[in-house]
Amino acid sequence: MFRRTSRAIFWLDNLARRAYDRAVKQTMVTLDLEGVLVPEIWVAVAEETGIDALRRTTRDEPDYDVLMRYRLDILSENRLQLGDIQRVIGTLAPLEGAKDFLNELRSRYALTILSDTFVEFAKPLMRQLDWPALFCNHLEVQNDVVVDYHLRQPDQKRECVRAFHSLNYRVISAGDSYNDTTMLAEADQGILFRAPENVREEFSQFPAVTEYAELLAQIERAA
Ligand SMILES: [Mg+2]
Repeated sequence: MFRRTSRAIFWLDNLARRAYDRAVKQTMVTLDLEGVLVPEIWVAVAEETGIDALRRTTRDEPDYDVLMRYRLDILSENRLQLGDIQRVIGTLAPLEGAKDFLNELRSRYALTILSDTFVEFAKPLMRQLDWPALFCNHLEVQNDVVVDYHLRQPDQKRECVRAFHSLNYRVISAGDSYNDTTMLAEADQGILFRAPENVREEFSQFPAVTEYAELLAQIERAA
């Protein structure tokens, strides 16, 4: 009897919370940048410079610090400077359909892009996307040489979702790589977009889609 009553209270409590959420909470969508809206920047640099070692991304190496130290070493070995990388980034365009998708999203919900890229890399791409809100990291540069990188804060994608929750937002997040999975887990709904098979298999609790229309439909359903 007691168990049945406490289950009923739990159920009613859940129902009340959901009704409150529907009535009061607004939706914040957080999106990863590379692989979701724009090409992988480092892969483009690898292609342009012919340095194959720079093809490794967060899709292959789950530990971001290991990946970045490896990239900085390769830049130094090949005497590649910030200006060289920025020149490559200047030739990149957002993925096909990304800008229309983003405009549609922004007309419906609050939106923040959460990326592990750097302020110094992002600007030419943000300009083409009409300057959406972007939280990312920054590089330490001396005489155009990249000497170090600085995370804005550890695990910032998850921390941002937590912060938006504390601001009473319902949060829906989408990303394609390992470095998005803590964000997806923290969100009210996480969605994988164009994720490689290994990520889709390892994180099968998240719905996985490949087209912007499908992603928009998933977001609509969860909002
Ligand atoms: Mg990505």
